[in-house]
This record gives sequence, structure tokens and C-alpha cells, in this order.
Amino acid sequence: MPELKDRAYWLEKAKTLRLEGRAFIDGVYVDAHSRATFCTYSPIDALPLAPVALCASADVDLAVAAARRSFEVGVWSGLAPRERKSVLLKWAALLEAHTDELALLESLDSGKPIADTTGGDLPGTIYCLRWFAELIDKVHGEVPATDPRFFGTVTHQPLGVVAAVVPWNYPLLMAAWKFSPALAAGNSVILKPSEKTPLSALRIAGLAVEAGIPAGVFNVVTGDGATGRDLSLHGDVDCIAFTGSGKVGREIAKNAAASNLKRVWLELGGKSANIVMADCPDIAQAARSAAAAIFANMGQVCSAGSRLLVQRSIADQLIQELLDATDDYQPGHPLDPDSVTGAIIDGVQFERVCEYIEIGKQEAQLLKGGNSLSHIESGAYLEPTIFLAKDSSARIANEEIFGPVLVVIPFDTLEEAIAIANQTEYGLAAAVWSSDLKTIHTATRQLKAGTVWVNCYDELVDMNFPFGGFKESGNGRDNSAHALSKYTELKSTIMRCG
Ligand code: NAD
Repeated sequence: MPELKDRAYWLEKAKTLRLEGRAFIDGVYVDAHSRATFCTYSPIDALPLAPVALCASADVDLAVAAARRSFEVGVWSGLAPRERKSVLLKWAALLEAHTDELALLESLDSGKPIADTTGGDLPGTIYCLRWFAELIDKVHGEVPATDPRFFGTVTHQPLGVVAAVVPWNYPLLMAAWKFSPALAAGNSVILKPSEKTPLSALRIAGLAVEAGIPAGVFNVVTGDGATGRDLSLHGDVDCIAFTGSGKVGREIAKNAAASNLKRVWLELGGKSANIVMADCPDIAQAARSAAAAIFANMGQVCSAGSRLLVQRSIADQLIQELLDATDDYQPGHPLDPDSVTGAIIDGVQFERVCEYIEIGKQEAQLLKGGNSLSHIESGAYLEPTIFLAKDSSARIANEEIFGPVLVVIPFDTLEEAIAIANQTEYGLAAAVWSSDLKTIHTATRQLKAGTVWVNCYDELVDMNFPFGGFKESGNGRDNSAHALSKYTELKSTIMRCG
């Protein structure tokens, strides 16, 4: 009989988990040099989960030295791509074999529903790792047409030491988007997970060794912003790949400039517009999709459809369908397999979202939600919340809230909708719903966003598509073969032959 993975199963399994809180440097788990720790809490009930190493500059120096040594001796960078592929595929198989354990760690540490971590975060992480592993022995350099007395090649070489600093909303997945292409390309990596969700990154480091990744090639340093700052200022880090807030992204760029001009790749915030035209092929479907676009993962998604732009003639109908669809996103206990949404990451984020809800009440009409739910454990749970704004000038229509708060903005013409969509400093994602090819073509060309969906939102999880932003949503792209260029240098080699 297959095991019934109900809430009792996950709660029981949580009791048996051994939570590793030591950093992972040069192939082994180690305490911070100072022995200092910080505590990671579970958003589920706001209770402490485990002490975690608080890495300072001495620990970062050790990790960078280990990464540098492993890179220069070539235990990884010097392997044939197909050999790196084989090790990365073994690592992916180990992650798959430990899916329940890793998904549970992720849910405990982040408050995400177990259905999401088992069905989304873990399969997505494994898919990403496999995708880059399978790609790496199939990418080639170039032999340019040139003067016949010469022969030349253009080749890709790994950068060296890559630091990946990542957020808490998809802890493993965001990490995998960085370390998979970086490792596949032959770099040595230092991962700095968010201080709010360090546990899954630490656990996969042990599995990396089991898979055969040599010591020093994959390191995890844990700590808060200061640990990330040490990496961004380090003179022997060649590249820092960051996902997180614009404020920290700016600081990282400044620190890179102030140190060794390391390569900087930034995946930052968003305030994405989901535009529904009156000729939308299926209004009920657009409404269900709009609810998922903002309420999945409690709105803690960089590409969330946080602005719903609706053509005025269908606004009443779409809003009614949306209000009905929103009932599916009431938060539940994250370890209950039927829960579609869970807890907000912590009290700080909870307060921030609540402040925006108060601001929203002053500047727009509250259509639904707005309350916290104190009956689920003692964590931070918020009702899905919808505001109707008169126009696009409201703060809640322009600033990233990063919570389950949607603002609906009516418009009259496509031109107006595109102008509203493009008015924020961000440019991560957008969507347009229409049956008219000309409307779709105009919108997809004119929307300033790294991803544009047509008659859907946040669909097609496929590593072939690059992900990243225009404007202040960042630079460079995660995923797809394009991501490899973030972690490689191009070398022109020119030989005189005649
Ligand atoms: P954050 O910027 O506060 O922290 C991200 C990481 O940076 C954490 O590991 C943190 O410890 C570290 N950090 C903090 N201060 C630092 C400093 N001075 N120098 C170096 N590192 C430092 O972001 P967050 O609150 O963890 O995540 C939410 C933000 O991330 C939102 O703005 C969201 O839109 C963005 N995000 C973007 C994407 C994307 O792909 N574009 C994906 C997920 C999240």
C-alpha cells in the first residue's frame, strides 16, 4: 500500500529530520570560525528550527580560497564536459531520491505549502540541474571565416570563482538557477542562501559530495547581509550572481566596482502587469489565471501578476469571476497536502505587507481580504487581498509589495494599458489576453518586460526560455543556454599558419 502522505505523515517526518546548520566549506560541514550562530525560524509557527553558522569574513575567505584552489588545480574545471555532466546527473538523482526530505525542509523553513515544494520547487530544481548537465557537452565554440594565413577559434572558458547570493521565496530553485549553469560551465561556486531559509542549501551540499563533486567546488556559506557583502567585496571572487531586492542589488554593484570589478548579474524585483482586453478569449479562465498569478506562493514571487489591468467594458464581469476564483487561495497549514497557500516568510515581511494593505485602504477600494488569520498555528498568514484603484497613480499600483495583494486598474484603450504597464521602474514580466492578433503583436512588442505571456500567466515551466528583466528588474538572464554566458569568458585564439 502506498504511504498516505497526509499532514500527520509530514509532521511525524519533521520530527525525524536532522537539521544541518553548519556551513559547508571545502567539502566538509564546519562551524563558523567565531562559532557564532543565528537561528532560522519556521514561518509555519514562528518557532525556532535550528542554529545556523553565522559566517563572517574569515569563513568567506576560507570558502573563496577553497573555491580558488579547486578551480586552479582543475579537479572540476579541467574535466571533460561529459564528465562534469555525469557527476551533476548523479547529484540530480540524489536530490530526486531525497525529494520528500528536501521538500519538507523547504516547507518548514519557508512556510510554503508541501504540495508546492514536492510538486514545484523540488522537481524544478532537479529539472534545472539536469538541463544544464545535459547541455554542457553540446555547446561549441566558433571558427570564424578569416584570412587563410590564419586560423582562429572563439572558445568559452569558465570564469573561476562564482558567488551566488539568493533569496528566500524559492530557496533551492533560485539557487539552482545560478549554481547549475555555473558548475556545468566548470566554475567553482560559493552559495549564500538567505538567512531566512538556509537549510535546504546546506543539505544538498552533503549530497553534492556523495555525487562526486570534488571538495572546494561547491561551498555554502550561511549568514545575513554582511556575509553577502563580504562576497561582493572580495578581491578573489570573479563573479557574483544575485537574486533579490533592488536595494541590495545596487549595493552589490557598488561593492563590485569598489573591489575587483567582478562580473555582476542581478535578478531583481517586479510589478508585473496582466492586461485583459475586452476581446479576451475566456474571461473566466483569465480570472482564474489572474488569481493564481498573484496569490500563488502567497504573492512572494518576483514575476507575480500584481497589477491586473482590465478593459473597462468587461471590468465588472472579470472582477466577479476573480473574487470567486480567489476563494481557492485561502491559506492553510503548510504541511497539509491540500493547502494551496501557506505562511508569509516572517514577521518583518508580514508587517510590510500589512502596511501596504493600510495604504491601499486609503488610496483604493478594498474588494476582498485584507485580514490576517491568527487561527493557523501562530505564524503569519494573510488573506488574499484585492483592491480596485481609480487609476494607476496609487502607491500600491507602483511599488513591489511581495505579498498576496492585487490591485485592479481599469483602462479604456490598448495604448493606455501599455503605458500603465510600462510606467514602473520594473520590467520583469507581463501578460496580455486578447483574441486579436494585431493587439497581441502590438502588446508583446511594446511591453518592456523580459517575459510576456499571451492568454496565460506564469505558464510553461521550460528551461529553454531565458528569465530576467528589463530596466530595474536586473540584467542578464537565468535559464536557457543564454545563462551560460554569465559564467564564461569568451576567448579569441588567433594562430598564424602561413
Ligand atoms: P534581499 O535583497 O533582502 O536578500 C537577498 C539575499 O541577499 C539574501 O541572501 C540576503 O542575505 C543577501 N543580502 C542582504 N544584504 C546584502 C548585502 N548588502 N550584500 C550582499 N548580499 C546581501 O531579498 P529577499 O527579501 O531575500 O527577496 C525578495 C526580493 O527578491 C524581492 O524584491 C523579489 O522581487 C526579488 N526576487 C527576484 C527574483 C528574480 O528572478 N528576478 C526571484 C525571486 C526574488
